Order: sequence, then C-alpha cells, then structure tokens
Amino acid sequence: MDSKLETKCIHEGWKPKRGEPRQLPIYQSTTFKYDTSEEMGQLFDLEAEGYFYTRLQNPTNDAVAGKICALEGGVAAMLTSSGQAANFYAVFNICETGDHFIASSAIYGGTFNLFGVTMKKMGIECTFVDQELSEEELSKYFKPNTKAVFGETITNPTVSVLDIEKFARLAHSHGVPLIIDNTFATPINCRPFEWGADIVTHSTTKYMDGHAAGVGGCIVDSGNFDWNAHADKFPGLTTPDDSYHGIIYAEKFGKAAYITKATSQLMRDFGAVQSPQNAFYLNLGLETLHLRMRQHCENALAAARFLEKNEKVAWVNYSGLESDKYHSLAEKYLPKGSCGVLAFGVKGGRDMAIKFMDSLKLASIVTHVADSKTCLLHPASHTHRQLTDEQLRESGVAPDLIRLSVGVENAEDIIEDLRQALEQI
Ligand SMILES: *Cc1c(COP(=O)(O)O)cnc(C)c1O
Repeated sequence: MDSKLETKCIHEGWKPKRGEPRQLPIYQSTTFKYDTSEEMGQLFDLEAEGYFYTRLQNPTNDAVAGKICALEGGVAAMLTSSGQAANFYAVFNICETGDHFIASSAIYGGTFNLFGVTMKKMGIECTFVDQELSEEELSKYFKPNTKAVFGETITNPTVSVLDIEKFARLAHSHGVPLIIDNTFATPINCRPFEWGADIVTHSTTKYMDGHAAGVGGCIVDSGNFDWNAHADKFPGLTTPDDSYHGIIYAEKFGKAAYITKATSQLMRDFGAVQSPQNAFYLNLGLETLHLRMRQHCENALAAARFLEKNEKVAWVNYSGLESDKYHSLAEKYLPKGSCGVLAFGVKGGRDMAIKFMDSLKLASIVTHVADSKTCLLHPASHTHRQLTDEQLRESGVAPDLIRLSVGVENAEDIIEDLRQALEQI
C-alpha cells in the first residue's frame, strides 16, 4: 500500500530491521571496511553497490535522500551540502561548455547569480525569461544547444506561482527536461512531477530543515525523461564515461542514470557533500514537515489578510488571497496552501520599509526564510543588493518589497507585532 505524505514524512528513508535503532543513526564515518581488495575495486568501477567513502555516499545521507525522494514521488535522489550546490549540479549534470539553458528571471537571487555570472564563466549560457510569457513567446528563446529549462514552484522572494504544466510542455516540445526548485512549496503542498517536471531540487535549509539548524540541498529525479530519445543533446548520459572505464549511464543505470552520474562524477569531483550530522537534523525536520507547513500557511494567510486591510500597506502578494494575481494558479498547483512566505510593500517606499522593519519586536531581520521563527528581509538592501536596478526590475523585485516569512508562533502574536510596527510609521 502506498502511504500518504504524512506517513511518508515519518516512516520513509530509514527502515530499521530487528534490533536496529528506531531513530536514524548518524554514520559519522568517512570510510567503510571491506574484506578484499577485489571487493573494493568493484565499488570503484561502479560494478558493485556499497559504501566506501562518504563524499560519494553515506548511509545516513542516503536514508534522508530516500525520504525526500519518496515525498516527491521520484526514483532516485541525492543530498548536497546546500541548495546552491543542488541547483548547480542539477544543471551542470546535463550542460557543458558551449551549452545553453533557459531559466525564469524571477528565481532566487543566489541562483540568478550562479546561472548568470558564475556558470557563464564556465562557458554555459543562461537566458532569463519572463515566466508569464505565452508558450509561443517562450519558444523563441530556445536554441539548438538548449539543454534544460529551470523555474521555481513559488519564486523567492516575489512569491509568484509558476505554471508548471506550461513550462513542462515547453521543455518537452524542445526535447529537454524541466528542472523545478520546489523549496518554498515543499512536496507537502506541491509535487512538480505530477505536473510534468522531470527533476526537482531543494534548498533543504528552508522548510525541510525547518529550524534554521543546517544548510543543505537535495536533487530528486522523476526518472521520466528519456535521455536516449534525445541522445545527441545529452552525450554525458548516452556516451561512454572515460573516468569509469567507458560506462554509459543511461544504459547501465536506466531510470537512475541522472542521479548516478551526478553522484559519481559531480560529487566525486566537486565534493559538495552534506555532513551526516546535518542530514540527521534534516530528517528530524522532515518528520514534522506536514504539520509545520499547514501552520505556516494558516498563519501566513491570516497575516496577509491583516496586511491587505491595513491603510499603511501599499500592496501584498500572497497567492492564498482571493485578490492575488496568482490565486487561480495556486488553486490548481497548491490546493493545500502555498507556503509561509509573503511579500508586501509599505506606503512611503524604501525608507518606510526600513523604519517598519526596525520597529518589529517578535519578527527578526535575518538572511533566512522558511523556518519556525517569523523573520523578514528587504531584498533591495540585503539578498539582492548586488543586482542593478534594472536586474531588480527584471526579477520583479520592487525596491520597497519586504519578504516576510511567517513562522509557526501564535498568529495573533505575529499580527500584533506587525500592527505595532506599522503604527510607528
Ligand atoms: C535558499 C534558496 C536556495 C539556495 O539554498 P542554500 O541552501 O542557501 O544554498 C535556492 N533556491 C531557493 C528557492 C532558495 O530559497
């Protein structure tokens, strides 16, 4: 019987046998012992399965990746040291120097830099597109060397909802996979594979960890993209890998090809591995993800309704509000609620935004989002300060935008704090 998401949060991943620890053990070991040199050799050739060095695989990490994989409904997954590493590996696993990919311009500032600046230095070109454009208009951005399409279920920090089906159709009609960063929605509120996405990434640093305890990331593969059907575009998966005696990933590993390649090449060579200790904390967070997401959504909706009615507030973006531009997309993709993050602006612009933020008592100003404590940030002066005004506008970040991450405290206390700070301006 396939269990429900709530049950998966608790029971997937680590499945102890008789006499084994009930809670996931932390395999705090860099290495694993074998009896013969021959056994060890087979592991290095990817001929046998087994742990040998934690940079490549670790039982604690694998159990947690397995849980996230089950929650997303994928076939294979891997943990990374951060969300940044997850998004880099997810794209770099199928894009080489001379390749091109397409990303929504509304994505997280860190990812925008990674794609637009750092990967450009590696000879990989990213075209940022307005995700509201029609399929026909978006099609014009594809080139013969385009290898992937990337977007976020709910964009950070503008909280726009992506039309995942539109993007999946677009990617597939050009023979490339759709990669979705599902950090804000989490699989509790949206499972992008059900809407045609091929690969999902996460910054587990956010709701999955949930307590601002550890930075981490994850990549999940649906196993649905047929690499062989577009073999010429993806030689890394469909032609021999010289660094593994000529293994062809798509042939040897079938539906697990993409994740196996990411582990055995990218993790081997770049090494952005999550520590088993952090994976343990992440697993604790995952056990209550379903409970917390429900409360985050309930509190955020209450806060959004309060802000919408307050005369000092200029605008509020939260797809749970009936008045929101993304309300109907949210009803389709996020029927249980979107997340605890909302964006709004106060009248009087930038200066008033800063005065408001400095007057808060419960909510804290931190470079973080999506954990149990209510927090907020002003992207124009914090996360996005490297961006020019034009880039800011391009990513839809207004100079007065405040990103409020509503926690799981009592909603009345959160609203009271917002009320008293608004009264100061
Ligand atoms: C935070 C975040 C990232 C980056 O994750 P880190 O764990 O901070 O490296 C990527 N995507 C989204 C949507 C995020 O919110």
